[in-house]
Amino acid sequence: MAELQTDIRYLKGIGEKKAQAFQKLGVFTLRDLLSFFPRRYEDRSVYKPIALTQDGESVCVRAMVADTPRLSRIRRGLELVKFRIVDESGMADVTYFNQSYRKDGIHKGETYVFYGKIEGSGVRRGMVNPVCEREDAEGGVTGRIVPVYRLCAGLNQRNVLQGVRQGLDACGEQLPEILPEAVRRQEQLCPARYAYENIHFPADFQALEIARRRLIFEELFVLACALGKMRGERVREQGIRLKPVELERFWETLPFSPTGAQRRAVDEALSDLYSGSVMNRLVQGDVGSGKTLVAAALIWAAWQNGLCSAFMAPTEILAQQHYTTLSGFLAPFGVRIRKLTGSTGAKEKREIKAALAAGEVDLVIGTHALFSADVEYGNLGLVITDEQHRFGVGQRSALIGKGQRPHVLVMSATPIPRTLALILYGDLDVSILDEMPPGRQKVDTFAVNESYRARLNGFIRKLASEGRQIFVVCPMVEENDELPQELKSAEEHAKALQEAFPELRVACVHGKMKPKEKDAVMAAFVAGETDVLVSTTVIEVGVDVPNAALMVVENAERFGLSQLHQLRGRVGRGRHKSWCILVSDAEGDEVRARLDILCKTGDGFKIAEEDLRLRGPGDFFGSRQSGLPEMHVADLGADAQILQRAQQAALKLLADDPALARPENRPLRERVDQLFQRGAEKISEAEL
Ligand code: ADP
Ligand code: MG
Repeated sequence: MAELQTDIRYLKGIGEKKAQAFQKLGVFTLRDLLSFFPRRYEDRSVYKPIALTQDGESVCVRAMVADTPRLSRIRRGLELVKFRIVDESGMADVTYFNQSYRKDGIHKGETYVFYGKIEGSGVRRGMVNPVCEREDAEGGVTGRIVPVYRLCAGLNQRNVLQGVRQGLDACGEQLPEILPEAVRRQEQLCPARYAYENIHFPADFQALEIARRRLIFEELFVLACALGKMRGERVREQGIRLKPVELERFWETLPFSPTGAQRRAVDEALSDLYSGSVMNRLVQGDVGSGKTLVAAALIWAAWQNGLCSAFMAPTEILAQQHYTTLSGFLAPFGVRIRKLTGSTGAKEKREIKAALAAGEVDLVIGTHALFSADVEYGNLGLVITDEQHRFGVGQRSALIGKGQRPHVLVMSATPIPRTLALILYGDLDVSILDEMPPGRQKVDTFAVNESYRARLNGFIRKLASEGRQIFVVCPMVEENDELPQELKSAEEHAKALQEAFPELRVACVHGKMKPKEKDAVMAAFVAGETDVLVSTTVIEVGVDVPNAALMVVENAERFGLSQLHQLRGRVGRGRHKSWCILVSDAEGDEVRARLDILCKTGDGFKIAEEDLRLRGPGDFFGSRQSGLPEMHVADLGADAQILQRAQQAALKLLADDPALARPENRPLRERVDQLFQRGAEKISEAEL
């Protein structure tokens, strides 16, 4: 007997070859196959008399074949099979290209159902390559709403469709009901069996909607339960309880007053630190919103409590910048600050390590070097990681493992819509810096095409002659990528620019360089020793070059909106008027519409929302970055309302049964645990 975990080879028509093709799509077992949902649907449920069909419409007609199909070879590699069909209302000509088997498969005088697009009208009416089914086989691929699946080489729609049909018949009844009865009733969701049947083979569009709603809810509910359970386990972890500090004494020393949002974020984090449980908090804020100051305030609080803080940056150059900035905020108090990176000399490294172990350092700022195995901390109380998405979850936990459960603050400059953040960072509490420090200037943004090149070069020349610096960003080019010719590689573009501007100092930095080389080029740019820096997105993260006044992005269509917004945030950080020019020759309204959003708004959260809407969460986060399981039906952007309901239902259930230990919650618990496992695989993969 077939069970859900039975291999798909069990099914008729699926042998070794097809099974391997299915595996490429992630389908191994019958359960996988049933969860392999259609990408879209074709409405083949509408029949029309031939005479009533319209040019361009896709429709089913039931008609008799009026003459014997004729095969003709137009030239090598092009064969046609043609015949005429008739019903009571009219006639049409059917043509198949390169499907010579149709000649013998379709018989004069018999009636078939054809589904396809009607071309022409009147006596010129025809169909090209329609789906065809004998009248008595009707209901297989015509006469209904037909699912369309994602395919790979070695599989066609019929293979998948027939596999799913067999799978549903064999073990549809075994699909476990993982939603608790109460939730299902409250949300008015259909049973699992119905949902799986109708997501694949919807009886009609209403049934499809009912099925979809249930499956989306289910998926988000499982995700919310998984994250909620994880958070629940965390919250109970005991942490170092800090004694309250008088933060005003810190704020008073600043040359400016903190924004309301900065105060709020610090207060939220402080209440974690005073709570006796471990802090796991994400501070999210657009570029320039002043995250560093939030970190400084908390480091100050930890220092007042005699605890050491570790601040981890993704690159050497950022570590250096943070060292400078944080020293400015904290050194006047006598906070002992050190910097530890890969390039720290051996002798100094030994000395810093000894000081850390002895508890003689209050703040250490560095890169990955901070959590190498031989670094010990005497009194680590707070770990802060900047630009969170650059670090894998594993790296974060390596550092956390260093002390006795230090508090953790993660800072991210990738704005995420609030509802989404709540669920995505279910394992973290979230503070949002939704207010910019005063006096920040708008970066004027324009989207242009190649015809603008000469003017753009003139603009670069003018700004450089005024002493400003210029960023030029090209898309990352992977070696194995098959890319269109016109794509600019950073190195070649740098060469071209140097030729165009012999009087300027053009430098290039890209991902294939060694970290040391990269840092050297970046440092020269920061120091003002080069005028134009051409790079791949390695500069995406928070480098501060106040003198940079222009950001040019080549092939802008290749970037996500949030990414472009991040890039734009590299300029306009000083007192100079700044610009961002997005160069793209890509045709199409969609590209224009996307780039237009950037030209119109500077609000990172708004842009993130649009980005999410346009690209879907998979691309938005990149599975590497989020470590989140891939969603099958749910669209984290579009299904925000269901997401919220699922989140609420999950929290309610977890409040009742935090470990999902009750017998009736067992099927759910299994799914939740599976999600973790898959998630974990993904994370470790991303970290390689
Ligand atoms: P990000 O959030 O991108 O990391 P930073 O922490 O680098 O932003 O801050 C950006 C700039 O704004 C810095 O030059 C910082 O000194 C300044 N800044 C931060 N907070 C304030 C404030 N409350 N008032 C004025 N300037 C501020
Ligand atoms: Mg920053």
